[in-house]
Amino acid sequence: MMNPIPYGKQHITKEDTDAVLKTLTSDFLTQGPKVAEFEKAFANYVGSEYAVAVSNGTAALHLCALALEVNENSNVITTPITFVASANCIRYCGGNVYFADIDPQTFLIDEEKVQALIDSKPKGFFNGIIPVDFAGLPVNLEKLRYIAEKNDLWIIEDACHAPGGYFTDSKGQQQKCGNGVFADLAIFSFHPVKHIATGEGGMITTNDKALYEKLILLRTHGITKNPELLKENHGGWYYEMQELGYNYRIPDMLCALGITQLQRADEGLKKRREIAKRYNAAFAGEVSIEIQNPALQIGHAFHLYIISVKNRLELYNHLREKNIFAQVHYIPVHTMPYYQSLGFKKGDYPLAEAYYEKCLSLPMYPTLTEEEQNYVIKTIKEFINK
Ligand SMILES: *Cc1c(COP(=O)(O)O)cnc(C)c1O
Repeated sequence: MMNPIPYGKQHITKEDTDAVLKTLTSDFLTQGPKVAEFEKAFANYVGSEYAVAVSNGTAALHLCALALEVNENSNVITTPITFVASANCIRYCGGNVYFADIDPQTFLIDEEKVQALIDSKPKGFFNGIIPVDFAGLPVNLEKLRYIAEKNDLWIIEDACHAPGGYFTDSKGQQQKCGNGVFADLAIFSFHPVKHIATGEGGMITTNDKALYEKLILLRTHGITKNPELLKENHGGWYYEMQELGYNYRIPDMLCALGITQLQRADEGLKKRREIAKRYNAAFAGEVSIEIQNPALQIGHAFHLYIISVKNRLELYNHLREKNIFAQVHYIPVHTMPYYQSLGFKKGDYPLAEAYYEKCLSLPMYPTLTEEEQNYVIKTIKEFINK
C-alpha cells in the first residue's frame, strides 16, 4: 500500500533548513533583519507597496480589523464558506458578522448577494467586506470595490489560499491577490498546509501608508521608538505605547524560512496547476463526480482541489482505508455552535450548505507525485463505479 497521502503538505528543503540554522545561530532570535527582508520580498511577489509580517494569519486578520477601527457598532460581511478566522476577527473587536451566500459555480461570495444584503439595510449600515479567495480562486475585487465605493465600505481580502493567484479585470489586466489595488488590506497565512510554510506565520499587504504604519504599531503592543512619532523624548531608552496593541510578532528564524520558501513559490504554484489539470482531465467524463468548470479556474492558485460527490461520507471513509486523507473545506461558519448562539441557524445560507453536503478536497501539494495522484484517481474511480 501507498504511504499516507494527506490533502496538503509542506515542502522543506536543505536550503530552508540552512537558512533557519543560520538565523538561529545569529544574534537575532526574534526581531532581526530577516523580518524586513521577508516583508520586502513578499510585497514584491504580490505586487503591493507594503507588507507586515505577523505571527499567524488569524493575527493578521485581527490587526486588520483593529487598524480599520472595527468595534461594537461595526457590521461586516463575509462568506460562510471559509475558515472560521475570517469571521472571528470581527467578533474579536466586538463587531457584528453578516454572511452573504456563495455562488454555486465558483464557491466564492456572490457579489449579487452582497449587494442584496446591503440593500436590505439602511444606508450606512455596513462598514466592510471580507471576501475570501477560497480554495485559491481569486474573487473579482474590481466588482466588490465598485460595491464598496458606492456604500463606503472597506475591503479586507482573505488571500490565505491564493498567493500567486490573480483575476482578470475589466481592462484585461491580471490583478494579483494581495496587490492592494482594489482591497484596502489583504492577509496571508504560512500554516504548513498553505503555499508558503513557516509553521506559524502570516502577512498583511496594503498600498495604504497610514494603515501600514498603524499595523506596525499594533503588531508590537502599540509601542513605538520612532523619534518622529514620539510625543516626548527622555533619551535613548525612551518608547511610548500610543495605542492598545498586541504581541503579534514573527521570529527572524521563521522569516528566514519564509524567504527561501517564497523563492520556490512559483515553482510550487506551477506544480499545483499541473496537478489540477490532471484531476480535471481524469474526472471530466465521470457523471457522478462534479468538478469546477475549468474555464472558471483562470488565475486559480489551487490551495485546494475540490470535487462534489453525492456519497461524500462513504468516499471519504473509503479513501482513508486506502491511506488517502482527503478533507472537507469548510463546514459553513454560520452553522458552528458559536455562531448559532449568535442567532444564525441551519437553512440561513442554502447554497453554502448544499455545497458542504458534497464537497471533498483531494490531495493537492507540489510534492504529490504522478504515481500518488494516479493512485488517488484510480481509488476514487473504482469506488464511484463499483
Ligand atoms: C489558514 C487560514 C486562516 C488562518 O491562518 P492561521 O495562520 O492558521 O491563523 C484564515 N483564513 C483562511 C481562509 C485560512 O485558510
